[in-house]
Amino acid sequence: MTDYRSLLRELPAVDRLLKEPAAEETLERLPRRLILQAVQETIASYRAMIIDSRADPARLDKIDLSPEKMAEEAVALAIRKGRPGLKPLINATGVVIHTNLGRSLLSGSAVEALSAVAASYNNLEMFLESGRRGSRQEHLEGLLCELSGAEAALVVNNNAAAVFLTLHTIASDWEVIVSRGQLVEIGGSFRIPEIMVASGARLVEVGTTNKTYLRDYEAVVNENTAALLKVHTSNYHIIGFTATVSTEELSRLAHRNNLPLIEDLGSGVLIDTCKYGLPAEPRVQDSLSAGADVVTFSGDKMLGGPQAGIILGRRDLVNHMRKNQLARIMRIDKLTIAALEATLRLYLDEEDAVGQIPVWRMITTAPETLRKRSEQIAGRLAEFFEPGKVAVVKGLSRVGGGALPDAELPAYPVAINLQDGPLSASELAARLRLGEPPVILRLQQDKLLIDLRTVNGEQEEELVLAVKKACSD
Ligand SMILES: *Cc1c(COP(=O)(O)O)cnc(C)c1O
Repeated sequence: MTDYRSLLRELPAVDRLLKEPAAEETLERLPRRLILQAVQETIASYRAMIIDSRADPARLDKIDLSPEKMAEEAVALAIRKGRPGLKPLINATGVVIHTNLGRSLLSGSAVEALSAVAASYNNLEMFLESGRRGSRQEHLEGLLCELSGAEAALVVNNNAAAVFLTLHTIASDWEVIVSRGQLVEIGGSFRIPEIMVASGARLVEVGTTNKTYLRDYEAVVNENTAALLKVHTSNYHIIGFTATVSTEELSRLAHRNNLPLIEDLGSGVLIDTCKYGLPAEPRVQDSLSAGADVVTFSGDKMLGGPQAGIILGRRDLVNHMRKNQLARIMRIDKLTIAALEATLRLYLDEEDAVGQIPVWRMITTAPETLRKRSEQIAGRLAEFFEPGKVAVVKGLSRVGGGALPDAELPAYPVAINLQDGPLSASELAARLRLGEPPVILRLQQDKLLIDLRTVNGEQEEELVLAVKKACSD
């Protein structure tokens, strides 16, 4: 009978495993510290296994402490540790703007602009004509004003920062009036009431969750009011018995009282969504022309650019924000500027924007195109499953990312039915998630759904291979 204490004594030392050929070979390819860590962790896991099995002689007998095998395990672990933590993956969920999967993808021209600037000195803060010091914002402000009709623009790190900077500059120690129906939480960490407290603005809530009228705002305006705030309820929609006040009406009330109207648009679209069969979404230029004095939105939602927070509006207000010390803390870097400038340039011609910005290309893909692609992929995937288990079904893709909460895009996902199969749907989904590249898809009871709207043509082959490998593991 094996005694667990003698097994513990038999555990090979770190140096012994490092001398194994497998480890020595790997030392030439990977940093020594990774291999050392992996060897230490492998030995520790064997020690834990011995201690766990101490009351069970049959299990102890099965523990194989051969240095060769342990070194191989350590090498496999070191290889896993040597892979990048952040890596590309295949999004087969059909959710176009998926915050957990990196939100929007950049267009080819944005990627080119970003990599050119990344590896070279550039005129980030220099006017080349005069040779004098310039502002990094110059590269974006003209384009943003041209596209939106705004007087001035300032771009910060993300939209949460844009809202914060706006409130801090305009309303710190003052009151800001917001409808109770718009006290939203987005993604768990951005909550309007909390951002307001942090900015120093005092929140004055008006109306009720489903109904707010102009007279509700009117009743609380006083000499301590600094602004009215309208927030786009990006990730939900109140339906039924509702009333909200339009930007136009709110701006008239604000201006009658010499106050600015701030509008947090969240997603910020520059294109008329109705033209593409989507629900209406307020455009940035419409809010400005309806009288909003400051609007803010994200760079990486429906705009389809890099992470950024865009502030547009009245020149005097934007200039105050520029001078706020906090603007320096939220400053965007050259990579963001390069990618955002290239993205905005595409909007100079709507056809370029819709055709070249991945978010728009995916949203506007015709269902019929998706059905044809799905049929092809389904034909290839069918080989790996029992007959009748793989089919193209009717479904819906989503825009996601706190944008167009009602938008349902007709789609034709490939469904793999794993009921009564040797592998459960959740097991196959987990294997795909852990593969190289990882594949993320939707799970619906015993079915896996592969929505090709968010998969590009070049990834289709990788997707088929990933499913094949996951099934045969
Ligand atoms: C998404 C969103 C934000 C936060 O924007 P980030 O760019 O993620 O910081 C703020 N307000 C609204 C209404 C949003 O939809």
